[in-house]
Amino acid sequence: MKGKNWREYEPPKRGRHEKPEKHRRKRRRRGGILRRILLTAVLFAIGYCGFLVYYSTARPYTIALDAGHGGEDVGAEGIIQEIELTERTTMELKELLEADGRFRIVLSRKEGEGKSITERNEKLRKREPDILLSIHGNASDDPSANGFECYPSPPGYANHDASMVFAQLIAGEFQTVGARLRGTDGVRFGYYDENDEKVLLDSTDTTVYDYDTFGILKHMECPAVLAEQCFITNAADVEGFGTEDGCKKAAAAYYRAICRYLENLEQDT
Ligand SMILES: [Zn+2]
Repeated sequence: MKGKNWREYEPPKRGRHEKPEKHRRKRRRRGGILRRILLTAVLFAIGYCGFLVYYSTARPYTIALDAGHGGEDVGAEGIIQEIELTERTTMELKELLEADGRFRIVLSRKEGEGKSITERNEKLRKREPDILLSIHGNASDDPSANGFECYPSPPGYANHDASMVFAQLIAGEFQTVGARLRGTDGVRFGYYDENDEKVLLDSTDTTVYDYDTFGILKHMECPAVLAEQCFITNAADVEGFGTEDGCKKAAAAYYRAICRYLENLEQDT
């Protein structure tokens, strides 16, 4: 083979430690995948941090809502069932708060779900809310009994003062939309005495009792109020605050009280 050196056709020489071409290619590919995974992880971390910053600044407040009763427990029965009122109002209020954009909402239970007071209380406390509202309907054997009242964490509790302010704001808003406030100012304290009997006292009684209060309010660190929206055993009350429109009106009153409470807090700091 004149003029042709067979060595021309020999594969190029490699160093002793040089890996064959296909292995090098494989290593490069493996390196590429690793880089891509790393890049994805970094982008994800940046995105997640951004989301957390957005979430905590755009929605600085966590609102805990408890629709009284649930599941098999429908609460009191009157012209309507208590649970119709508690769920309807809670869902209306949730919508108002969500539309506002400043709030994260925690529900003690899903609509229709049955959960004990202890479970509902624990679920809400875990989320460390800024404010708690529990919604109920009142009932009486006397069909003329009527009006609005609400129960803040009572005297002696660490969150009593803040709860009192929140309760007074709620009562004020209900009075504005036409509710009759029961007792002195629509704010009362609720206890269970040593015989487990319910004891309801006027807000003027600031004695610190050694009694339990309502289960949903227990161990709450934030301002906490249980509201008895109206009497489901009184026709005018149901018309005013128990029908679909009535629950909307009530939800709007709670919403304004929540906003006013938190806005006052911002002004004080
Ligand atoms: Zn109830």
